[in-house]
Amino acid sequence: MKPKYDNLSLFLVTLIGATLACSCGKSSDEAGSGKGASPAAEAASKPAPVKSDLPLKKIEITANDQMKFSVEAIEAQAGQPLEVTLINVGSMPKASMGHNWVLLINEADAAKIVEEGFAFAGNDYIPTNMEDHVIARTKILGPGERETVTFNAPSEPGDYEYFCSFPGHYTIGMKGILTVK
Ligand code: ZN
Repeated sequence: MKPKYDNLSLFLVTLIGATLACSCGKSSDEAGSGKGASPAAEAASKPAPVKSDLPLKKIEITANDQMKFSVEAIEAQAGQPLEVTLINVGSMPKASMGHNWVLLINEADAAKIVEEGFAFAGNDYIPTNMEDHVIARTKILGPGERETVTFNAPSEPGDYEYFCSFPGHYTIGMKGILTVK
């Protein structure tokens, strides 16, 4: 449909945009909290080692052509190791109906990630300058594909939103909440 050059130039433009945005984004967030960097934000910046006395909790979530997750609420204890498996049980092509599972830190703005994510198809529709808002995620999956991610639940109790970053799916309601107690 589209020539590849369009994608390439779009990528370059967004890359430049991301670089510019990066230079001023991070420190203001952390300064605003008033109590230093939150544990959740720190955990998100690198893959959390899964080491805990708490039992590993396995969660299997299916995603379908109706843009619904089979699981819209997950409960976990603070710091609990979690293993989330996303399975795309739909049959529509990945290019028009791909799905992923993205868990965000408290401070993240899912609507903003969705809005700006349109330009980041090559990064699973997650703006590259907002990767530190992501605790854990899969890549975009096509029909019949699955992916498992293992991580620790945030150490701070609260509600953490997860969603599918494929364009349009969050708005339609492809999302859920991880409640950490
Ligand atoms: Zn989706």
